[in-house]
Amino acid sequence: MQYDVVIIGSGPGGYVSAIRCAQLGLKTAVIEKYKTFGGTCLNVGCIPSKALLDSSEHYHNAAHTFTTHGIDLQNLSVNMPQMIARKNDVVAQNTAGITYLFKKNKIDSFEGLGSFVDKNTIKITKTDGTTENITAKNVVIATGSKPTALPFLPVDKQRIITSTEALNITEVPKTMVVIGGGVIGLELGSVYARLGTKVSVVEFLPSLIATMDAGLGKELQRVLKKSLGMEFYMGHKVTGATNNGETVTVTAQNAKGEDVKLEADYCIVAVGRTAYTAGLELENIGIKTEERGNKIPVNAHLETSVPGVYAIGDVITGAMLAHKAEDEGVYVAETIAGQKPHINYNLIPGVVYTWPEVASVGATEEQLKEKGTKYKIGSFPFKASGRAKASMDTDGFVKVLADEATDEILGIHMIGPRAADMIAEAVVAMEYRASAEDIARICHAHPTYTEALKEAAMAATANRAIHI
Ligand code: FAD
Ligand code: NAD
Repeated sequence: MQYDVVIIGSGPGGYVSAIRCAQLGLKTAVIEKYKTFGGTCLNVGCIPSKALLDSSEHYHNAAHTFTTHGIDLQNLSVNMPQMIARKNDVVAQNTAGITYLFKKNKIDSFEGLGSFVDKNTIKITKTDGTTENITAKNVVIATGSKPTALPFLPVDKQRIITSTEALNITEVPKTMVVIGGGVIGLELGSVYARLGTKVSVVEFLPSLIATMDAGLGKELQRVLKKSLGMEFYMGHKVTGATNNGETVTVTAQNAKGEDVKLEADYCIVAVGRTAYTAGLELENIGIKTEERGNKIPVNAHLETSVPGVYAIGDVITGAMLAHKAEDEGVYVAETIAGQKPHINYNLIPGVVYTWPEVASVGATEEQLKEKGTKYKIGSFPFKASGRAKASMDTDGFVKVLADEATDEILGIHMIGPRAADMIAEAVVAMEYRASAEDIARICHAHPTYTEALKEAAMAATANRAIHI
């Protein structure tokens, strides 16, 4: 079969690209090595982690805030197998949705490992060992990423686990060590801390979620310690872990070079992810991956050094986020169809689904300082928001950074209730190059959390926030 486009990998990059290609009239096929479509995001990433975050948040609220709301519950307990079963059902609904969309858009799919024979021929090796070749005018590599392994700390999937195994623990552990105070460590650490596990986070750097605006990590650490009793070992470099059978011992070195030992039921290794290219046989078409992170190099049009072979999502440079992969999938499909699409990489929002949620877009204060940009700050705390008081979600703040001379918004950073949804307003405003005063003068419904963004914008405009 001769295709216009063959896509290797069915994660948010690959499946979205396939649908857009089909919409544009291109004969399209997807090769996926797993039984279900959707990649990391739908099967072992965004969707299952958010399902467990929602379930654990319900339990935590029932156990800790319902009484204050005037709701008394007795004999509250966690049914972990049911929680995992519901999560699996949510995953199944989502992956089945992709099967439906492929059929609807007349996209052919092949189950098996895709590898390059040459730049237009892809070999599919099926689970029974048989092979089939298909040809394509264009190929899109969307093979994603896998958890980064620490060479001195092999994952045994029993006591020393990655995010994938952490999504399937069928009892509430008493104790857990999370290696890495990044997004995965804090989201999955929150799931278990909410269910009653004593969670200790060991982070090499001095701050959590270190790539985001520094104020966010500081506030998140304070709140997670206060509300969930999480412990933080900041500036500690993990040096090893030993599986003792029923427990695991993690060793780390603090800033003074002293050894620290932590014992727990499980240890989650969440120290980043590495681009996944195993089995692609890239050498057959002369593509070399980068030494650091194994990323496939691409040009501004997401085309590799081989004309007609594109790469998108986690397997190339940039944020390892589902929505970035999706936008790149659309970009490549439209490029192949002869259009001139555009992605504004400066405006890809980042979200951490802890509670409070953390969300960010544009430049951080640290980046503005480094560039020497003169900026104004407007900040508004949720403790001054009527909506946040009503729901007892008063931790956190919104911070608006605007150009000192022009008032153009340069970055918006927030930690607070529903920040994940609120950041969309910031992205739209910045895409249209709004000034802080634009947001300050737009009517926001009352009472909503989004008023905090308006107030922060007012504070940035002329220090004219009303409620602080
Ligand atoms: P992937 O989703 O990794 O998909 C790649 C696919 O390619 C896989 O299905 C794989 O089996 C297949 N494949 C690989 N090699 C071959 C081959 N040779 N032949 C055939 N098939 C192949 N991002 C967010 O934006 N929001 C979140 O809330 C979020 N939460 C996350 C939570 C966790 C626990 C994890 C681990 C990640 C999370 N992410 C989140 C990140 C997100 O999952 C990734 O950024 C996203 O999945 C990348 O999409 P992709 O299409 O590039 O690759
Ligand atoms: P991360 O890069 O966010 O965090 C890893 C952390 O581990 C870093 O802070 C790093 O300093 C620390 N670390 C590294 N080596 C260490 C050591 N030896 N000892 C102690 N700490 C060490 O990576 P992650 O949390 O694994 O997430 C991987 C990717 O998945 C991220 O790029 C993220 O974008 C994506 N993801 C996104 C979401 C979301 O959007 N909500 C959720 C989960 C994952």
